[in-house]
Amino acid sequence: MTDDQLLRYSRHILLDEIGIEGQERILAAHVLIIGAGGLGSPAALFLASAGVGRITLVDDDAVDLTNLQRQIAHTTERVGAPKVESAAQAMRAINPLVDIRTLRERVDAQALDALVAEAGVVLDCTDNYRTRQAINAACVRAARPLVAGAAIRFDGQISVYDPRPGDQPCYACLFPPDAQFEEVACSTMGVFAPMVGIIGTMQAAEALKLITGVGQSLAGRLLMLDGRDMRWTEMRIQRDSACPVCGQQHAQNG
Ligand SMILES: [Zn+2]
Repeated sequence: MTDDQLLRYSRHILLDEIGIEGQERILAAHVLIIGAGGLGSPAALFLASAGVGRITLVDDDAVDLTNLQRQIAHTTERVGAPKVESAAQAMRAINPLVDIRTLRERVDAQALDALVAEAGVVLDCTDNYRTRQAINAACVRAARPLVAGAAIRFDGQISVYDPRPGDQPCYACLFPPDAQFEEVACSTMGVFAPMVGIIGTMQAAEALKLITGVGQSLAGRLLMLDGRDMRWTEMRIQRDSACPVCGQQHAQNG
């Protein structure tokens, strides 16, 4: 680390749990963030400020006036600009040392496989059930930990789906891919502004914990926040051996 880096990251280095070694791990890490909206904004800003060496940011959308109430990486001036470019500009303004790659596209399974395999940790910051399932399947295939967050109205939830230890559930163990959910479109739903900030910031925290090995991750636990009463509920989640994505039957059949 250079003298500038030692100063910039000094408040991490001062932590016994991180120190120089942990910060070196953060500098060497590559995080994939899918979605540069409400969750992706704080997640991307904190991961950039913390010095994650490489960040790949994926989103096909452009900044809209209705986004600005909660998507804090974007500005009034950048309405109409691609969200990935707008967010990258905000990230570089905080930390020009981070290598940021932007992809303005809606990624399919094949593109996801390539992107996930390159990254050490994946953040699902999308708001679309089908995309969430595709990201989870790619993370299971590549054995990459997935930090998935969601926020709508006054409700938020977050967990880590880590296929590496072998006995942790994946996203599909909990939310079956063939379930007939009514697609909740964020374009028509209300969202209490700080909810996405709370959950997106926690996603950044879990990603940094996974990178540095600090504490225990949220793997196997789903945290749910009721923002009206500001009450957290923790639910233990288990691997489903019949899960169509990570289940034993699926693995045996190839
Ligand atoms: Zn599963």
